[in-house]
Amino acid sequence: MFLNGKVAIVTGASRGIGKAIALAMAGAQADIVVNYAGRADAAEETAAAIRQLGRRAMVYQADVSDTSQVQGMVDATLAEFGKVDILVNNAGITRDNLILRMKEEDWDTVLQVNLKSAFNSIKAVSRSMVKARYGRIINVSSVVGLHGNAGQANYAAAKAGLIGLTKSMAKELGPRNITVNAVAPGFIMTDMTEQLSAEAREKMTASIALNRLGKPEDVASLVAFLASDFCGYITGQVIAVDGGIVM
Ligand code: NAP
Repeated sequence: MFLNGKVAIVTGASRGIGKAIALAMAGAQADIVVNYAGRADAAEETAAAIRQLGRRAMVYQADVSDTSQVQGMVDATLAEFGKVDILVNNAGITRDNLILRMKEEDWDTVLQVNLKSAFNSIKAVSRSMVKARYGRIINVSSVVGLHGNAGQANYAAAKAGLIGLTKSMAKELGPRNITVNAVAPGFIMTDMTEQLSAEAREKMTASIALNRLGKPEDVASLVAFLASDFCGYITGQVIAVDGGIVM
């Protein structure tokens, strides 16, 4: 019940970690805006599961890299629910390649969807959060943003950029009682990590202290906690949820 009456926008909530975050927050009694890019069927499934938990859900298609679409989503949320208490910037993509083979387009797209998206949505929600003198913003970064990864220059740069954005926003919005934190998941079992070969998976597991890949719910419970009033004095932090890779 610790998010009772709160309204949350979760980007990329149709699948994977975003879906688990939406359900964890709905389970704590928040109403949820389920953002997605293309998979309407999956987004409707998330919304149905939220309604099963007795909470309101609004499904909203918006490409998070598009400033006006994100503004439209925030306007629609304010019209439907009257406020935005929580913003979770979760939507993300990968376009992996070694730098010599990485296309400029893949650099640009990954930076836009993983980093510019957070600028778009923070800018769009901040006016109403500042007015309300309340807000919780959580950015989903990655351990790759902390320690880098060969073959993921674009993704690592975007995720490291999210950490700089998190700390700057924490300083800028802190005086208005808005906290801004980041979570840095390790290897979590979702569609994003499904393409990994058995060999790569084995190698990764060996680098994890808890000796297993993570589940979306492992990340979701931390995000829901950070969104709650238990965490009103925590801001500007980057918390790894990685089974003990970065320590
Ligand atoms: P996923 O299963 O591939 O799901 C991605 C989600 O993002 C989907 O809901 C997708 O919507 C949405 N999305 C993609 N592009 C979008 C866009 N332009 N606008 C709006 N929504 C968009 O990914 P995941 O593994 O759950 O990852 C979620 C977040 O965690 C990402 O930021 C990722 O970088 C981060 N992360 C993941 C891992 C991991 O191991 N999985 C580790 C560290 C960090 P559609 O369903 O409509 O396509």
